[in-house]
Amino acid sequence: MLHINNISYTYNNSDFSLEIDNTEFQPNKITCVLGENGSGKTTLLNIIGGHLLIKEGSVIVFENDISNVIATGRPVATVFQNLGLFPHLSVRKNIALAIEPNRLIGKSENVDLDTNTIITKFQLEDLQHKKPTSLSGGQQQRVAIARAIATSPKVLILDEPTSALDYQNIAKLTVLLKELKNSQQVPIMIVVSHDWHFVMDIADDIIYIENGKQIFQGSKDKFKTTSLYNIK
Ligand code: ADP
Repeated sequence: MLHINNISYTYNNSDFSLEIDNTEFQPNKITCVLGENGSGKTTLLNIIGGHLLIKEGSVIVFENDISNVIATGRPVATVFQNLGLFPHLSVRKNIALAIEPNRLIGKSENVDLDTNTIITKFQLEDLQHKKPTSLSGGQQQRVAIARAIATSPKVLILDEPTSALDYQNIAKLTVLLKELKNSQQVPIMIVVSHDWHFVMDIADDIIYIENGKQIFQGSKDKFKTTSLYNIK
């Protein structure tokens, strides 16, 4: 379980503040974070990922308080909207580079072997020697998710994953995320998306943020009975 307790975050040069008393992300469920532009969704993701450090409150992953751990030391992998793949490196190299730190800390004995496992799991055999720029948007995203999973995170965050995808690739992404959930490879899955249809398909739980405050947390079915669902 991922717990957020009493966090408060204010940017130096802005009036905005994110204040969340208590929220939970359950294992083996997909939690979607919803809210209008500027409500604080990215701020929350960056706090969980360690890209923004909080001065108050705590972020606890499976009973480990990671509030003061820097981003690279957290068991959290984020797939940002721009995917962040290295364009000059092959798909295989992009994945191997993500696994390399696991070797250094003894989590991976053989980077090549673990790279093969990920490539097979994500059906990237035919694409592994290509550069990301020669792939379609859907394929690039598959690589970015594979690379994120390759680090063996406990938390996977996807920021607006459908924004660059057509209908067919959104359908494929939906299948991939449900498979990842069912295979329990990464216990906590968090998705931020404006794509209402996609969210209602993949979400188990919903967190809704408005003006930096959480105004709903619960199951998708419960969310559907609220006025927040009906305004869409
Ligand atoms: P969302 O992801 O829901 O669109 P954000 O978390 O990106 O919202 O932003 C929440 C608020 O914080 C917005 O008012 C935004 O302008 C402000 N904000 C975001 N990043 C910064 C920053 N680096 N410096 C100052 N203000 C910021």
